[in-house]
Amino acid sequence: MLDDNMKQQLGQYLANLREPIELVGSLGDDETSAKTRELLEDIAALHDMVSARFDGTADHVPSFEIVRVSDTSRSASFAGLPSGHEFTSLVLALLWAGGHPPKVSDELLEQIRGLDGEYKFEMYFSLSCQNCPDVVQALSLMALNNSGISATLIEGGAFQEEVEARKVMAVPAIYLNGAPFANGRMSAEEILAKLDDGAEEKAAAKLNARKPYEVLIIGGGPAGAAAAIYTARKGFRTGIAAERFGGQVADTLGIENLPSVPYTEGPKLVQQLETHVGEYEIDVMKLQSAKALRPAAQDGGMHEVELANGALLKARSLVLAPGARWRQLGVPGEEEYRNKGVAYCPHCDGPLYKGKRVAVIGGGNSGVEAAIDLANIVGHVTLIEYDSQLRADAVLQRKLGSFANVDVITSAQTSEVTGNGEQVTGLVYADRNSGESHTVALDGVFVQIGLVPNTEWLAGSGIELSQHGEIVIDDHAATSLPGIFAAGDATTVPHKQIVIAMGEGSKAGLGAFDYLIRNEAPEEIAQEFGGQAAAA
Ligand SMILES: Cc1cc2nc3c(=O)[nH]c(=O)nc-3n(C[C@H](O)[C@H](O)[C@H](O)COP(=O)(O)OP(=O)(O)OC[C@H]3O[C@@H](n4cnc5c(N)ncnc54)[C@H](O)[C@@H]3O)c2cc1C
Repeated sequence: MLDDNMKQQLGQYLANLREPIELVGSLGDDETSAKTRELLEDIAALHDMVSARFDGTADHVPSFEIVRVSDTSRSASFAGLPSGHEFTSLVLALLWAGGHPPKVSDELLEQIRGLDGEYKFEMYFSLSCQNCPDVVQALSLMALNNSGISATLIEGGAFQEEVEARKVMAVPAIYLNGAPFANGRMSAEEILAKLDDGAEEKAAAKLNARKPYEVLIIGGGPAGAAAAIYTARKGFRTGIAAERFGGQVADTLGIENLPSVPYTEGPKLVQQLETHVGEYEIDVMKLQSAKALRPAAQDGGMHEVELANGALLKARSLVLAPGARWRQLGVPGEEEYRNKGVAYCPHCDGPLYKGKRVAVIGGGNSGVEAAIDLANIVGHVTLIEYDSQLRADAVLQRKLGSFANVDVITSAQTSEVTGNGEQVTGLVYADRNSGESHTVALDGVFVQIGLVPNTEWLAGSGIELSQHGEIVIDDHAATSLPGIFAAGDATTVPHKQIVIAMGEGSKAGLGAFDYLIRNEAPEEIAQEFGGQAAAA
């Protein structure tokens, strides 16, 4: 099951085990069971603190449980084979079960360990989903650190009937005590916040007690991370408040256009950005959503950002880098059938539509790429484009033309996603030439019509936005308000790309530096920084 190279690598990791673990297989006569047995035997042969037995009686067959021998209530279970993106999750679960300390804050571990109650999680993932490992790892971390929590991590492809019975149409999908709990990428902090009613208030109280920042960055994508590295290196007290560190990069599979890095993958780049940011004294506040901006009343004064949990952060200068998100169709049925057939991430959810009929809406590069990707997995793809012709690069259009299971419909305006109350059954579009209405029978609809800037929360702040909602910046990344800079996909900068976001973020960081050294803070504000906030 494991090749020599993988065995060697895994052997090195397992050297970190501090106490014995047992792998308990619940297997049948099928091929996946045979592979699971082989995998468990391979792992057990690599370290004398790992043993395997195959007399498990779990509901899922094949599955296996990773159990801490000294406390058998600490365990995590995998149903199906955790290969592909999930192999790392398997390695981490083995290490954590064996007492190797996880690389998370003491605060988070305390919160997990302090959670009272019984929580039985079941979570579905696909092997090609790059959003899934975060959830798999969060749940195994929780299950291995609190005996009241159990986690069964299920590879959807190996349990197709169960997936269909539960109508799982988007992964990661989490069930708690048998009922749907959440869909989509979630960190342990987010899962805990959802379980622990008082968590929001506690987090807000802690943030309110933070000292003002010299530079506060809103957004933890490549633009925000780059800005923070620049201002922290200048010695300024820097904070990042971000809903999700990594931003869109976390949703990206292969990245081949970051100069000097011929190939990388989104989650890996996010991890590297986080490591780089972690090398400086940057206060990273994850899971924090900015709700309103109140610019300084006087030059050099303090700006305030109100967060969704009610906390108020203050800073002498700001870098706004809230990026962008998938654009929605805005037609009836889209919201109702979201995650029940309406999807936005073909890499994540494509494998759940194996052999089925899907539509991709949008004939730009991302739509045509999605259609090519899906044509290899699903039964049939209908690509729907509003314009009279596709807008994707010629090379992508040629590739698309090579698939026999793809139909392209142009001049089509989607007017409704239809469903049977439980899942998508099709869509309705109007032919823009004839005005005639047509229905296409479908199992899934992938929406690929571009991005919208995450700037709604800036409305009314006085900051200038373009007609598309982008933050208007000049060539120094300065916004229309003094001391407030902006960078990346949320701005009017042309071409939304990682390297551009990083460059613009660096420019905005330098802009903030320039502003701070040229603008003395009013006396009362200077005192908040111990008299150091004036020109450095
Ligand atoms: C599927 C996909 C594939 C891509 N592939 C490539 C590629 O191969 N190469 C390439 O160069 N580019 C690619 N891109 C584009 C690239 O990812 C973006 O240009 C880049 O991530 C923009 O960086 P950013 O920091 O401006 O914004 P984002 O990456 O969008 O980050 C925004 C940050 O702000 C946070 N945020 C948003 N709103 C708020 C709020 N109200 N309060 C607090 N925080 C907030 C988010 O959580 C996030 O941390 C791809 C994009 C997608 C979606």
